[in-house]
Amino acid sequence: MSENYDVVVIGAGPAGYAAAIRCAQLGMNTACIDKSVDNDGNAVLGGTCLNWGCIPSKALLDASHKYVEAQQHFADIGINAGEVSVDVPKMIARKEEVVKGLTGGISGLFKGNGVTALHGTGKLLANRQVAFKPHDGGDEQILQAEHVILAPGSVPVEIPPAPLTDDLIVDSTGALNFDAVPEKLGVIGAGVIGLELGSVWNRLGAEVVVLEALEEFLPMADERIARDAKKLLTGQGLDIRLGTLVTGAEVKDGVVQVTYQDKDGDHEITVDKLIVAVGRRPYTENLLASDSGVNLDERGFLYVNDLCQTDAPNVYAVGDVVRGPMLAHKGTEEGVMVAERIAGFKPLVNYETVPNVIYTHPEIAWVGKTEQQLKADGESYNIGQFPFAASGRALAANDTQGMVKVIADAESDRILGVHVLGPQASEIVAQAVISMEFDASAEDLGLIMFAHPTLSEALHEAALGVAGHAIHMVNRKRK
Ligand code: FAD
Ligand code: NAD
Repeated sequence: MSENYDVVVIGAGPAGYAAAIRCAQLGMNTACIDKSVDNDGNAVLGGTCLNWGCIPSKALLDASHKYVEAQQHFADIGINAGEVSVDVPKMIARKEEVVKGLTGGISGLFKGNGVTALHGTGKLLANRQVAFKPHDGGDEQILQAEHVILAPGSVPVEIPPAPLTDDLIVDSTGALNFDAVPEKLGVIGAGVIGLELGSVWNRLGAEVVVLEALEEFLPMADERIARDAKKLLTGQGLDIRLGTLVTGAEVKDGVVQVTYQDKDGDHEITVDKLIVAVGRRPYTENLLASDSGVNLDERGFLYVNDLCQTDAPNVYAVGDVVRGPMLAHKGTEEGVMVAERIAGFKPLVNYETVPNVIYTHPEIAWVGKTEQQLKADGESYNIGQFPFAASGRALAANDTQGMVKVIADAESDRILGVHVLGPQASEIVAQAVISMEFDASAEDLGLIMFAHPTLSEALHEAALGVAGHAIHMVNRKRK
């Protein structure tokens, strides 16, 4: 006997749970299957983002930032805090509490919206049937759906020279759970995870070496911002070694020996822990029966069109498992779009305005095109820049590193990209996203009133600076 649903979603991460909630809100009888369990074996909702990604990493980034503030910067502003120390188990336990609150919140949202949560594994069969194997040991059930949304997410990439071990060579999940600060920490990959988790443990006292294969630092970011960020992060103690090829990592006598090559030859370092953070890959193992009708693309992602439709009728895929940036908010927007399209509405996801944030301190955030991309495309553009060192609010907060850079089309003045290195860059870039969604020009942004004193004024001033009209800095000569 099969159970019937309007929609079955596989995966309850930010892409899947958002899709399920929106489907239920739109009146569809919806079930969402997820197989994740926590360290105690309890079923949890929220996927990578809530359990092992965005949220726990930010809990540790915020806690470690506060430690650095108290230890290194309180004295500058007239606060004598005495000796400050770190209680790693407590910090980790608090992070777990934050995670628990939020994953429990998804259960509450499912209940409140009438989504049926099914804890176990789902596999797509032919004709929109889904085989559900519950965690509780019950028999496999066949669910019949009018529509299926696949949102199984992604998992860390592993590399042969550095095979993971129980607790010394770890991926990002292991790096969120160290029970003490390693004296020496190696990180393979100077991408988002390498910089964020490298920063956490560096702030807490670890000596951190980051080995990055590419010669260029953060090639996806604006060159100027990447250059300034590297300088600041290096100044904080991250030893970032570009152009390195890791050739081996082996546990010997309780430590990890890492060998790598660069242009100067072969090297070896010994570290107490090694984090492998070289990217994530789509998670499609045991997801599809051979006759499901869904295909993969050449990189192993589920193949979808712009509307997240797979090759099987009424089967959609969203989030990290499909092309595009592996970001929670991108997956959420796709999930909501699919739910609304099933209900007969016609929304689209605007992939041109996906914000990117790296939660180092200062934060690095951007939306739209970089200057190097525009140059390569032969586009004409104008730039406005404003340093936080000239922001009253940043000075008041003793947090003045970085800048805002606004790039606008030379002819139409339409904003093409905004790049922020600085305090609260993640919040500031949201204003740039809104501006770009409404096709604003730099002049439009300049004409809007911003509260004083705020960090956001740096965006306002940079927008004014595009035409040489910034007030609180001397403009480069323009008409
Ligand atoms: P996931 O969140 O991976 O969820 C997929 C779910 O589906 C999982 O629970 C999985 O168990 C389940 N599943 C898979 N297959 C099956 C199956 N066959 N049956 C049943 N269930 C199944 N992104 C940001 O935007 N901001 C950040 O700050 C950020 N920080 C991050 C920090 C770290 C350390 C990591 C690792 C990632 C971070 N990300 C961040 C990325 C973000 O976590 C992902 O982009 C996001 O979780 C993807 O959402 P998703 O719903 O596609 O998949
Ligand atoms: P990434 O793609 O951001 O960075 C991986 C880095 O590892 C790259 O710089 C790459 O050149 C390097 N690399 C690859 N193979 C290597 C090797 N063999 N030796 C040395 N370096 C190597 O991937 P990530 O940092 O693992 O993050 C995975 C995904 O999770 C990203 O797509 C990211 O979008 C997402 N994420 C987002 C956030 C955020 O939004 N703040 C935070 C964490 C993760």
